[in-house]
Amino acid sequence: MSKARWMTVAVAVTAALLGLRGLWRLTKSPGTQVLGTLVPRVETSERVVALTFDDGPVPAVLDDVLDMLRVLDVHATFFVTGSELSAAPGAGSRLVQAGHELGNHSYSHSRMVLKTPWFVSREIERTDQLIRAAGYSGEIFFRPPFGKKLFVLPWYLWRTGRTSVTWDVDADSTAGKGVAAMSIAGRAAERVRPGSIVLFHIWYPERSASRAAVPLLVRTLRDRGFRFVTVGQLLSKKWVQAGARWHHEYALLNWRVRSHLARLPSPGVMLWTVPEPSGHHAI
Ligand SMILES: [Zn+2]
Repeated sequence: MSKARWMTVAVAVTAALLGLRGLWRLTKSPGTQVLGTLVPRVETSERVVALTFDDGPVPAVLDDVLDMLRVLDVHATFFVTGSELSAAPGAGSRLVQAGHELGNHSYSHSRMVLKTPWFVSREIERTDQLIRAAGYSGEIFFRPPFGKKLFVLPWYLWRTGRTSVTWDVDADSTAGKGVAAMSIAGRAAERVRPGSIVLFHIWYPERSASRAAVPLLVRTLRDRGFRFVTVGQLLSKKWVQAGARWHHEYALLNWRVRSHLARLPSPGVMLWTVPEPSGHHAI
């Protein structure tokens, strides 16, 4: 092959790799989705904030979680997985009876990338049915496992009129083992703004630091005048500033997505520098 030909091949391979890298980052970005409605936070001047808890429910810590939120007088949104809910149906009912919201975090907590429509549909519909069976009657929001979504998932959510809810404050996904509750709460408190959606992982016995961080964060934010609402309440028009957009809608890989991608803060970039938390407990 001639030198010029080699150069062309090298440029084409580099471009393809950069394209894949961009696509991979796009699948992970909490603020971007290729199609449909995605809510990482709402635009408001009201000091309202929503706490969201991913995965579970897990009976071993259910009493602790319910007691903690009852004492704090906070209603939260739990993005549960269908598999865990079906293993502990009573746990879902108790969350609903305590006034919390249930959201859909898929059935099996698989990465929703390059999956068939049949797979995606089963994951979402089975979980919604279990959430209804637990007695929850409000709108069911969806949160993709690992924050990942590409092509079939956004298409399915859009086609079925579902809203994806991510977060703008990730309290503990990248907190390594041994991180103290104080530092989890302190780091989250620094980043909360009016209209923020905070992501926590408080299920599973080993997440004790995250559970202990919740009351610390709640008290800190209340001192700053924040009120705690559910995701459904946060998305109600009441809080949203007139004319402000609270969601992002993007056409399939159009230029706006790419220009938005270029401005993305750390969550997309962190993928390349921070090992993803292992196991089912991650995001
Ligand atoms: Zn998760």
